[in-house]
Amino acid sequence: MSNVKQTLSIIKPDAVERNLDGQIKEEFLNNGFKIIQEKKIQIEKQEAEKFYKVHETKPFYNDLCSYLSSGPIVVMILERENAIIANRELMGSTNPKEAAEGTLRKKFGISIDKNSVHGSDSEENARIEIDFFFKS
Ligand code: UDP
Ligand code: MG
Repeated sequence: MSNVKQTLSIIKPDAVERNLDGQIKEEFLNNGFKIIQEKKIQIEKQEAEKFYKVHETKPFYNDLCSYLSSGPIVVMILERENAIIANRELMGSTNPKEAAEGTLRKKFGISIDKNSVHGSDSEENARIEIDFFFKS
């Protein structure tokens, strides 16, 4: 039975700035993901605020939105069996210091705010986030 799904991935400014996007994309491919669509963009702070609206009451919201809009990012639609969970596993914990060995955030993340990658956390959010960046 197939459970092929799509998820939204973002390579965040800290990783793009360090030219890690090629390496990170290779990690996705090596872990069975297909990159269905991708684009390198820089977003306005206002767009970042919309994207992270779920976090608007959090103390880190303002810095988070400034950060996501601070430089180029690579946004991708990834496809795989159980894509959402598989991507969250590959990414590792939000805080790179707590992320398991071999995960992207362990390998590439600098700190909890500069943790190199974003991944959708549910099927519903994956659809919303894919539409946010790729709906024409
Ligand atoms: N974040 C932060 N400080 C915190 C918690 C989160 O700067 O104390 C940032 C971090 O970059 C994280 C993003 O906010 O990736 C969204 O937080 P979430 O809890 O959704 O983590 P994620 O789903 O990215 O693992
Ligand atoms: Mg999240």
